[in-house]
This record gives sequence, C-alpha cells and structure tokens, in this order.
Amino acid sequence: MLQQVNGHSSGTDAQGRASLKGDLQQFLGGEAPLHQLDDLTKVNPVTLETVLRCLQARYTEDIFYTNAGCTLVALNPFKPIPQLYAPELMQEYHAAPQPQKLKPHIFTVGEQTYRNVKSLIEPINQSIVVSGESGAGKTWTSRCLMKFYAVVASSPASCENYKMAERIEQRILNSNPVMEAFGNACTLRNNNSSRFGKFIQLQLNRAQQMTGAAVQTYLLEKTRVACQASSERNFHIFYQICKGATKDERLQWYLPEGAAFSWLPNPENNLEEDCFELTREAMLHLGIDTPTQNNIFKVLAGLLHLGNVHFADSEDEAQPCQLVDGTKVSVRTSALLLQLAEDMLLETIQIRTIKAGKQQQVFRKPCSRAECDTRRDCLAKLIYARLFDWLVSVINSSICADSSSWTAFIGLLDVYGFESFPDNSLEQLCINYANEKLQQHFVAHYLKAQQEEYAVEGLEWSFVNYQDNQTCLDLLEGSPISICSLINEECRLNRPSSAVQLQTRIESALGGKPCLGHNKLSREPSFVVVHFAGPVRYHTEGLVEKNKDPVPPELTGLLQQSQDPLLMMLFPANPEEKTQEELSAQSRAPALTVVSKFKASLEQLLQVLHSTTPHYIRCIKPNSQSKPQTFLQKEVLSQLEACGLVETIHISAAGFPIRVSHQNFVERYKLLRRLRPRTSSGLQGLCPARGPSAVRSWLTRKHIRRLHKAATVIKHAWHKWRIRM
Ligand code: ATP
Ligand code: MG
Repeated sequence: MLQQVNGHSSGTDAQGRASLKGDLQQFLGGEAPLHQLDDLTKVNPVTLETVLRCLQARYTEDIFYTNAGCTLVALNPFKPIPQLYAPELMQEYHAAPQPQKLKPHIFTVGEQTYRNVKSLIEPINQSIVVSGESGAGKTWTSRCLMKFYAVVASSPASCENYKMAERIEQRILNSNPVMEAFGNACTLRNNNSSRFGKFIQLQLNRAQQMTGAAVQTYLLEKTRVACQASSERNFHIFYQICKGATKDERLQWYLPEGAAFSWLPNPENNLEEDCFELTREAMLHLGIDTPTQNNIFKVLAGLLHLGNVHFADSEDEAQPCQLVDGTKVSVRTSALLLQLAEDMLLETIQIRTIKAGKQQQVFRKPCSRAECDTRRDCLAKLIYARLFDWLVSVINSSICADSSSWTAFIGLLDVYGFESFPDNSLEQLCINYANEKLQQHFVAHYLKAQQEEYAVEGLEWSFVNYQDNQTCLDLLEGSPISICSLINEECRLNRPSSAVQLQTRIESALGGKPCLGHNKLSREPSFVVVHFAGPVRYHTEGLVEKNKDPVPPELTGLLQQSQDPLLMMLFPANPEEKTQEELSAQSRAPALTVVSKFKASLEQLLQVLHSTTPHYIRCIKPNSQSKPQTFLQKEVLSQLEACGLVETIHISAAGFPIRVSHQNFVERYKLLRRLRPRTSSGLQGLCPARGPSAVRSWLTRKHIRRLHKAATVIKHAWHKWRIRM
C-alpha cells in the first residue's frame, strides 16, 4: 500500500519526492532503500544485523523513529529538532484519518492511545511503557507525550472552559520541572538523569478532555544527597539554589557566593540560574507559595551545611568524636537553618542511645567516626526523602481530578532501564528486578498471549522461541526461597551480617538454579544473576544494611523537635501522624525493608498496567558520549539484544496485522450481513461461529481486505444514492 508522505522528517520537497519514489519502488516490487523502511518487520531477513543496519541507515538520514511491529523504536538524536515536536505536527497526527500511515512518531502512539480510550462500549485505560537505558530518552519522550496530550486533549468550547483546561494542563506540565529539579541529577551517563521511577496517569473525561493527573514515584535514590560518585553530582535543586539565589536569600540561607560544600561536587554549570527561576515559577503554578518555597530552600541549605560537618577519630572510646577544626560553624549554621538546638543536633549525631533491660533503661554510647558520618548522612537522607514525598503529594493534590470527573486514563511509565556497572548493589538489584517484571509484562501481554492465541485457534504458525524470564523472576522473588527473601531474612535476624555470609547463604540455598550465574571470577563477595538483558554481578558488601535502611529513632525524635514549619509538618510530633517507620520503631515490629516496599509498589504498578492496553516505546542511545550524528553499532547492538527486539519483530511480522474484537467487528461490518445469503441465523450470517476467537479464526488477511473494499464500495454507492435523492 502506498504510504502517505509526511513532510516533517523529509524536511524539504526534494526529500519528500525521494521518499515518495522509494515508496513507489517498494509498491512496484523494487527494493526500497533501507532508510525508507518505516517498519522493521519489513526488513528481510529479520536479524540483529539487518535491524541494526536499517536503524543506522535511518539515523544517518535524521529519521529517529521506526516501528517494530507493536513497539516504537526511538533513537536519541542528541540534538534539538524543534520541528519534530512542533504543535502543528501534533495536530497533524491528531487530525489524520489513519495516523499509523504517517511517518512513525511518538505522536502516532500518543494518538493511537488517545483514540483507543474512546471505545465503543466502555472507555479502556491505556498505558505507554517507555523503556531504555540511562540517557536513552525516556524522560524526554514522556515529556513530549504529555505536551501532546496537553494540546490534543485540551478542552475547546467556551472561553471559560478553555482557561480552566489550560490551567490544569499547564499545572500537569509544570510538575515536570519541579520533579526533575528535586529528583534528577547529572550522572556519568546522563546530564539529566532521573533518579526515581515515575508513573503518571493522565485522566480524561467522557469528552476525552484531560481533567487531571496523578503521579506515583518509585525508589528515589536518596543516598545521592550525601554521597555522589566521582564526576557525578547531587540533585539539581542544590546547585540551582546556590547559583540562583538573590543577594538577600544568600544572606538568609547562609550561602555566600563561591562557598564550597562537600555535598556539592562539580558545581561548574551556568544553566542553574535560569533553571532555578523555572523551578520556582513551576512550584508557584502548583500552588506552592513563595514563603513555603523559601522554607524548602532554607532547609536544603541547612542540609548543605550539615554535609560540611566532619568528625575526627576519638582516642578515647568513652568520649564522643571531636569535630574537625573549623566545622563547628557548619553545625551552628545547619542547626540555625533547620531550627534545631545546636548542641542537640551535634549530640544526636555523636551519641547513640540504647534502651535495654526490663525497665528500658537508657544507655548512651558514643559513636565511632564512621558511625557519626553514617548518622549525619542518614539525617540528610531522611529529610530529603520526606521532602520529596511531600512534594509529590502536593503536586498530586494540585493536579489530581475529582474521581467523578474522569472516566479513563492514559498512563505513562518512565522508569530506570536495566543497569549493569562494575559495582552493583541493592539499587541495581531493585532496578533490574523492576525491568524483569516489565519484560515479563511485555512478554505476557504481547508475545506469549499472541502465540498462545494462535495455538488455541489452530492457526498455522512457526513458534518463535522467546525468552521467558520466569526462571529469573523465580530466582529473584519466588517462594519459598529467593534472593529477595534471603536478603530480607538477613535483615530480620538482626545479627551482624557479613558480606561473605550472605553470598554463602545464596549459593547454598539457590545454587544450581538456572539464572544464578557462576561466581568464580570475583574476589569480593558477590553473586551473579543472569537477567534477560545479560548477567549482572551484585556485590554483597553492605547490601543487607542498605536493605534495612535503618533510621535511628533518635534522629526522627530530633527532627520532631524542630521549630521549622516545614520540618514540623514533615516530622509531626503528634502520634496520630506517625509514619510506619516510627510506629514499628515504637512497637519493635520489624520495619519494612527496602526490597519489601519496592516489591509491593511494583506489584501495584503491574496491577495497574495489566488493567490497561499497553503500548511500548523502546528508547535507544546511539552512543554513550551523548553526541549527535554518532551511531556506535556495538552500543546499539547490546541495547537491541537487551530488549529482545528481534523476537518482537519476528512475532509482529508473522502475526496477523489486524486484530479486531468481536464487538467492533460486528459494529463495523454489520451492514455486509445483508449481502450474504441468509443461510443461517443471527451472527452466523456474518461469521461461522459466535465469539471473538471464532471471528479471528474465520478472518484472514484476505478476508479483511475484501471486507474493507466491499464496505468502501457500499459506502460510496450509498452516498451517491443519497445525493441523488
Ligand atoms: P535516565 O534513565 O538517566 O533518566 P532517560 O532515558 O530519561 O535517562 P533523557 O533524560 O530523556 O534520558 O534523555 C537524555 C538526553 O538526551 C536529554 O537530556 C536530551 O538532551 C537528549 N534527548 C533525548 N531525547 C531527545 C530527542 N528526542 N530530541 C533531542 N534530544 C533528546
Ligand atoms: Mg529520565
């Protein structure tokens, strides 16, 4: 079929003509140039190599989106291309009778989901899973899709309505700069790396207007507040405050120009000033007024000063560690900004209190230097994580629509992709576990379901050997024993756990399981998991402690005594408002571990995803230096392998291109019923047996083409007849 030539990626008329020529060539049976293959299912044969060559050919021609059956592959251009995301183009995709006939684009996916919501019977929730490794373009893609919906799903009609709609859409879009300022950071892989996962639910009413949104976040990397890998940075917001504060604010927040902070490495970047303005403005739009904003920034400045508090080793174990010369002023400033008593702040970090015996006698034990550092860092992480959660809840209350005002949603999932570093720990284990779950969702929803359905319907079909990752998930989360359960168990036993001990337990309990890799090469205690995207070695040093994520009750107690309005709200002294951590600390019940909390939120997410029609966008990073016009085959290849793209293409290419539900099929073709001889009754005049599977098994591609043709002929004839009348 001739494809509509869309101007945007062709750019000029000449290019458009060339593209049309290619389509014609293809139509007439000639070989189309590789870069003109809009769908990877048309590559022949479908192998990693041919897919790679096609993507490279397109990338060289500045074509960044390619269909791969049910998935859209998005190559990161690493350069601004405003015309590719212009509102006019959004409208073009929105207005197109068949957007899938236009050039592949994220707007095709956007429009498809938007149309799917408006089903014939009940609105159907949709989701778009955007995946890819760090820096591949997930957040960029999600942001563009949000802008797309803000344009196409805005309320038209009356002026009053329009203003209202603009406000909600604008507020939804404003959540991006705020969440990115507090949750993103510059890493070795991406200058604007999201350090949390995000699922945003865009809520639509019956008229398909966006009435609100709800955000859910996952696993903020809070350790970054107090600990940044070399050449990486803290969360953007800290730099924004330091660069963007006015003179007065600098005085109030004790941030003199050029001040050095231990927790603020690599500060050279000139963009922060403007970004701070943007963050403040967005916060204002979300209903966070200037005094509250200033309160937030004051607390963050307090954290920066806390990071400059350093301890020296104590010669006498019975005595608390002394402060390193010159850092007393940092304690004072931090206490001032956090509105805590200076001596109490210092003492809480330096001295641990232990309750023991039947009478719950309180013992005070000075902490070692390392323990003091840990407690100081813990205090900062505690404040930052609560602040982030609170911000998300404020954003939600500002953008979330009343449940009666929306009937369906489109969910956008932007989560960290698969990670494998030289040193992997609990964070990578959680991230890769989430990716295994998402891969399973993809396999279950698309590959497996499709193959199984073909088998049930007795269709001729050569089975694709897809990689089912259930064995890996069994290893990670299965019952009764799995890696997660063993790590949790170590936490519950509450004994000093060594890295070697955990490795030995995993090996003895799970050794021989197919996805537990060989662990011969490492000298450090570790275990290897063979993920669908490749093997990853996880070091066990510190893993159990990270999973416990212990918060000494003295630290929460300290913050409950703060006179700062924001901290008073985040750490209420009122028992009714106590958090799960505080309650479990009180009742001595084991606190939920990081893994357990993460697992629970992941299960919730998957439940939501299962209730939607999913769509997939795979973002690919053409090179790891973030350079435009650079396509490194080796790097792209490993990403293609990691997401099992070739298998997806095989299934999409071999499968039936059109799948119509029984209900929709009947609606669409019911007028043809009268054309067929009335050999049988009811629906059987249209298809041999009732039920959706019967329709599909009866329906071949040839039938669909014929039916389409017949329907069009009838429609035209009917129009002519009406005009004549
Ligand atoms: P992480 O997992 O680290 O959060 P990510 O997949 O979310 O990574 P993005 O932050 O979306 O990656 O993209 C990284 C950078 O790539 C962006 O800051 C931007 O500079 C560039 N980029 C991504 N997509 C596009 C695009 N479509 N056009 C132009 N530049 C892009
Ligand atoms: Mg991101």
